[in-house]
Amino acid sequence: MNKGIILISGGLDSLVSLGLGIEQYEIKLGLTFDYGQKSAEYEIKASKKICDYYKIKHKIINLDWLKEVTHTALVSSNELPKEMDKNSAKAVWVPNRNGLFLNIAGAIADGENFDYILIGANKEEAQTFSDNSKDFIDSINKEFKFSTQKKPEVIAPLLNFDKNDIVKLALDNHIPLELVHSCYAKGEKHCGKCESCKRLKNALKNNNDEYYIGKLF
Ligand SMILES: [Zn+2]
Repeated sequence: MNKGIILISGGLDSLVSLGLGIEQYEIKLGLTFDYGQKSAEYEIKASKKICDYYKIKHKIINLDWLKEVTHTALVSSNELPKEMDKNSAKAVWVPNRNGLFLNIAGAIADGENFDYILIGANKEEAQTFSDNSKDFIDSINKEFKFSTQKKPEVIAPLLNFDKNDIVKLALDNHIPLELVHSCYAKGEKHCGKCESCKRLKNALKNNNDEYYIGKLF
């Protein structure tokens, strides 16, 4: 019996969502999307390691065409933003990303009989990315009532948490943060400068976690 799918990018939020949700939602499959983002190779590697760690299947979905309609710094040669504000959200926006990802997962859930789809949407990113908000998750759940027969439920376990809380949850629950790859840039190691690295580093600092700062940066 299939139960849960998780959207996994290899980053902090998807790792912690998986670590917290694996038993409750019987997660069996991780989906990673390759849309030509600079960090795709490293996100895929990290996601694979995380799926292996939790002993779930891993599937990569190629979305080559999405790169062609994405003109922001995540895929283009534009410089990645270093600040965390409305403008930076614009600079790394991927057209309808979470909507697309959830709908693809919805099709797999409908076709292969999964009940749940987990996503690492969270309070902190919802402030700049509207497709991380509770309203958005609610609207996709409404949509699936019409667009699927299985009517899978989208679960976002981190919706009420910011990055400090998420790191704390990871530490409290012994979730292996050394497996994380949360960087927007192209490189094996975290660049430490992009918005995503800064959010992670700040959250580790705020939790007084020197061990993972040393390990990841
Ligand atoms: Zn980075």
